[in-house]
Order: sequence, then structure tokens, then C-alpha cells
Amino acid sequence: VDDVALDPWGSSSVSDYRKLFEEFGIEEFDEVLEEVPHPHYLMRRGVIFGHRDYRPVAEAMREGEPAAVLSGFMPTGDPHIGHKLVFDEIIWHQRQGADAYGLIADLEAHAARGMSWEEIDEHARSYLLSLLALGFDPEEGTLYRQSENREVQDLAFELGAEANFSEFQSIYGFDGETDVSHMQSVVTQMADILYPQLEEPKPTVIPVGPDQDPHVRLARDLAERMRFFKVSKAYASFELEPEERDLVAEFYEELEPAEFDDDQLRCTHVAEALAETPLADLETDADTLSSVLTKLEEAGMEPIRPRTRFFDRRATDEAFEALIDAVEGEKRVYENHVDAFEVDLADAEELAREVEVDNGGYGFRPPSSIYHRFMTGLTGGKMSSSIPASHISLLDDPEKGYDKVKSATTGGRETAEEQREKGGRADECPVYELYAYLLAGDDDEFAKLVYDECVGGERLCGDCKEQAAELMREFLAEHQEKRAEVEELLEEAEIELES
Ligand code: SF4
Repeated sequence: VDDVALDPWGSSSVSDYRKLFEEFGIEEFDEVLEEVPHPHYLMRRGVIFGHRDYRPVAEAMREGEPAAVLSGFMPTGDPHIGHKLVFDEIIWHQRQGADAYGLIADLEAHAARGMSWEEIDEHARSYLLSLLALGFDPEEGTLYRQSENREVQDLAFELGAEANFSEFQSIYGFDGETDVSHMQSVVTQMADILYPQLEEPKPTVIPVGPDQDPHVRLARDLAERMRFFKVSKAYASFELEPEERDLVAEFYEELEPAEFDDDQLRCTHVAEALAETPLADLETDADTLSSVLTKLEEAGMEPIRPRTRFFDRRATDEAFEALIDAVEGEKRVYENHVDAFEVDLADAEELAREVEVDNGGYGFRPPSSIYHRFMTGLTGGKMSSSIPASHISLLDDPEKGYDKVKSATTGGRETAEEQREKGGRADECPVYELYAYLLAGDDDEFAKLVYDECVGGERLCGDCKEQAAELMREFLAEHQEKRAEVEELLEEAEIELES
């Protein structure tokens, strides 16, 4: 399969990760690796291969500033070793100081997968037990179910006002047959993604498989749309087309020059003038304002430009009122920041966010994401919850886990002789993946040794699988023991999970 199809509810195999960089704008994780404090082994080994805008999260963790991590689980079956990647990612970020959120996407499971509430309850519990058993700290972190979280529901409703059906159609391929609950589950998921920022905006990372990227892109977009002061947009609108320049000139003629005499009040006057213009005209007028100020500057009038850049092309009258208040009330803050503003867009965004929060807005930062590779199924092809032999459930009996590894396909050669001569194909081997993704744990040397011995022809598949199978048996036994131990923790956490 050549094409990359990103469908959150469909197939979860991506045949060519390079295309994700080229076509979808996912960036290579390697490029930020150095900025990450004590990177997780999944990052070091390239299992986490891509990201969107991860730098602010890495920086916040480095500097001890607020950051958050959130991922959701659709409880459609037992958690398996593929889910463990995401559990590990959440826990690692929590240990680096991020606020950690694990949520059960029960509404999505019901709406998109048709799961009954009984099935959902049973699986939800199992996901949370594994998350806790792997080290999630429920005292420091937050666990919730979509359906039980009133704040998420309210936020979903608000976000829904910013999205429409044609957009869902083009992003998710929804059509006339798509039921309303499915659409509602999408806005709920958007609310989940932004939930960690409800109290204060902060860099937030969503660790997911690349098939979830459409959700991430939509959430980033909605986060921006919820903002009424958009610095970067305003910066962009500053580059005007010739026709727009004419409109600007016209608008400028109409304004009373006297209004611009007083530097202190200039922006407020322009904002008021714009607030009085009909809503439909605002798009042009936001551009217009930028140009008016350029002209003022050309005329040597030193307009206070930075403030004007908080104008939003899509702003409403209320937003303009809030802006006027902001300009009046926050004048000093702005003036202190003018220099920084001119040189550093990121600082300016931060400032805009502060002002927005002070004025009752959310000030959301577009959420960041990291993407991990999908594990290959033990039987070759993709790992699938519906094919038991292709995956190892975290609930599999340790002996069963052992057997599954023993019967896995490998990247080995036809004969032992050929293997010694040419070496094995570790890069195509599901067993090697087990070592790299899970069995070698934090021990890079061991993972590298397996790889080198395999491709060097010193390792033969029989022994290699035996070793992996034993490690898997140990891992499952230990994990299941820990699951039993954390039952009590879950009981305590469930007080918040249940209504
Ligand atoms: Fe895979 Fe191990 Fe065989 Fe190499 S030696 S191909 S890693 S099973």
C-alpha cells in the first residue's frame, strides 16, 4: 500500500512514515531529541518518530515550567502491548514534571464503535489498572471518563460552535449517514485535548499513533479559533494585497485625523471605530487597521503598533469590547513589552494569552503531539486487537505470552547457515521490535547487542525467540502482579471516575 490514509477509526497501519513528514507536516522527532531532558528510550530508539510543535513542551519540562500530557483510551478490548507505549509516554512525562491526564474515551467507544456500556465499564477498568501498574501516579495526575466530566462536556459544547459539518466531512469523511453522536464524540475529544489548559494555558503534549493526527490538527485549529487575540494571524495579515491596500487608503480617508493626535488613545479610538462597523466588514477592517497604522508610521506619527496586532480577523463585537478594555487596562504591561514584542513573536503570543485570560478568555496554546510507530503484528502484517495471535494482551496468561512469542514470524533467513553468512533482518523482525519497544526496557546496550548480533549473523532466531519469550513471560507475570497490587489505588481513583 503506497498511500497514507489517516483515519482515527480505521486501519492503523502506516506503510510509509516519510510521507507523514512530507504530506502531513509531521516533523521528525530526531530534530528535537537533543532538547528533551533525559529522553525516554522510545524516543532514543526512534519508536517515537515524529512530533508537532513539541519544543515548547520540552522547554517547559527543562525549565520546570507548567506543562501537561494527555492521552485517551477507547475501551474496546483488553489493553495490549501496543497501548503500553502510550501508557509509558504519559508516565514518563509525568515523571518529568508534567501534569498527566489519562482519560477513558467512553463516549467515543459507544458512538464510533457501538460498544455497550457494560463492555465499556469492564475494559475501562482494565486500562486504568495497567496504567497504574506501570507507574502512573493518580495523586499527582488526573483520570477521568469523558461522560463523567462536566467541564469537558461544557467545553465540547463551546468548541462545537467553532466547527461545522463540512469541516468534519473533509477531515473525517463524514457523510449524510454519520450519526450525530459520532460528531459529538469528536468535539468531546477536542475538549479532552484542551482540557489540561482550562485553568491556565500551558504547553500540552498528546502522545498518539499517527492515525490520530486528524484529531490533533483539528484541535490545534480549534485552539486558535477560540482565541480572540491572535498575534501570529495579525502579523500575517500585515502583508496586504494591492486591492486591500486600496481599501485601507479609503478607510484611512474616512477616519478623523484628529483621532490620531493622541498617542495614548490612538489604538482605543481605532478599536472603537472598528467595533462600530458591521460584523461582516470586520475581516477587511482588521487588515485595514494594520495598514492605517503603517501609514501613520510612514507619516512619522509613531503609532503604538504592537497593540493593534491583537486584532483578530474573525473577532466579534464582544471581542472588540474586551480588546478595548485590555488596551486600557493593560497599557502599562504592553508598553513594558514593546521591545520584546517587536523581536519575539513567541513572547508576544504569550502576552496576548495573558491578556486574553485576564479578560475571561481561554488563551489556549495549540496542543503539541508526539507520534509513535505501530508495532508489527507477531504474525506479520499489522498488530490488531481483533487478531489474538497478532498481539500480546497485557492480560494474557504469561505462558500464553511465551507461546505467542515462540510462534512469531521473524526476519530470519531460510537456513541457519544462510543466517550466519548474511545475518538476520532485524529491521523487518517483529521479535526484534519486541526487544526494542518493550523487552530491553531502558537498557540501550542490550537492545543494540541484539540488533548487532542479529544483523552480524551471530544470533539465530530459535535462541533469540526463546530469550524474548522468557522475557515476555517475566514481564507479563510481573505486570499482572502489579495490576493486582494497584486495585486499591484504582478504587480510590474511581471515586472521581464514577458519578
Ligand atoms: Fe529476529 Fe532475532 Fe531472528 Fe534477528 S535473530 S531475525 S532479531 S528473531
